[in-house]
Amino acid sequence: MRLLEERIRSDGIVREGGVLKVDSFLNHQMDVALFREMAREWKRLYAGCPVNKILTIEASGIGIACITAEEFGCPVVFAKKTETKNIAGDVYRTKVESFTHGKTYDVIVSRAFLGPQDKVLLIDDFLANGAALLGLIDLVRESGAELVGAGIAVEKAFQPGGDRVRAMGVRVESLARVSSMSVEHGVTFCP
Ligand code: 5GP
Repeated sequence: MRLLEERIRSDGIVREGGVLKVDSFLNHQMDVALFREMAREWKRLYAGCPVNKILTIEASGIGIACITAEEFGCPVVFAKKTETKNIAGDVYRTKVESFTHGKTYDVIVSRAFLGPQDKVLLIDDFLANGAALLGLIDLVRESGAELVGAGIAVEKAFQPGGDRVRAMGVRVESLARVSSMSVEHGVTFCP
């Protein structure tokens, strides 16, 4: 998606350690007009797919997922990260290793909000090694819901997550696919 690529080129900052900072428009300050365009693009890509629930993971996917849910006319559920092992309630649970924080979290979704009646589109800001997305896929499988696919804002295509998830037969639509990035040369996108 040209609009997102241009925004990453102009306002994204590449940090040492392979982190692309997009805090000024995507995951700290949020450009909601941009989110709207991204949501419309996912809606176009998944036209005809019967999505009735958006699932994301806290925290930085939530804003994008909310606007996307509005576009699809359905609710959004976010998987909660928790370090508490025995949280009360009836939940689906999996583990996710955080790329940015180097920690492993338990991730939960209430059974009340996801089940076999749901057709789920996963939304997240980044796809890197795939841990976050694989965690969400796990929760969908556990719930018996149907997985329609995933919408990712920025895929770091030089990391293995995208290949891993597609190899499982899951449709992944990434709006900007970064082929390489460095502090010196900035960001290059896949053609
Ligand atoms: P994965 O689990 O695919 O390795 O990483 C995805 C998660 O890590 C995303 O939810 C995102 O929050 C975070 N992440 C991964 N790479 C980056 C990055 O380069 N920049 C930022 N800002 N977040 C990232």
